[in-house]
Amino acid sequence: MKTDCVFCKIVAGELPAEFIYRNDALVVFKDINPHAPVHLLIVPRRHIRGINELTAEDQPIIAEMILTGKAMAAETKIAASGYKLLFNVERGGGQVIFHLHLHLIGGW
Ligand code: AMP
Ligand code: ZN
Repeated sequence: MKTDCVFCKIVAGELPAEFIYRNDALVVFKDINPHAPVHLLIVPRRHIRGINELTAEDQPIIAEMILTGKAMAAETKIAASGYKLLFNVERGGGQVIFHLHLHLIGGW
């Protein structure tokens, strides 16, 4: 855990979040400032700064994040209407929380 990281604190239960799903590897919670009717964040429990820091060892967690995004789209009933799965990378790419997360956005 990175002690100054908001998402590490949410994962550890030290900050509140509206959890939708949790397992051993990742958590899913509602974005605090939603950009659409459904806006969830899929967040690995392990601290990884972002996409630029991924290594080959991270293949399983990335695959699980994307498959969880698909499952959460079905769960929230936006699969048929359509959605975005989005990684922002570094400041120029719009990343403001430097703990890897996948946005699930949809429900328009
Ligand atoms: P990004 O711009 O990709 O780094 O996205 C960070 C996202 O985290 C933004 O959409 C924020 O609204 C969201 N966010 C920041 N703090 C919290 C929090 N405490 N609980 C839930 N979502 C948060
Ligand atoms: Zn973190």
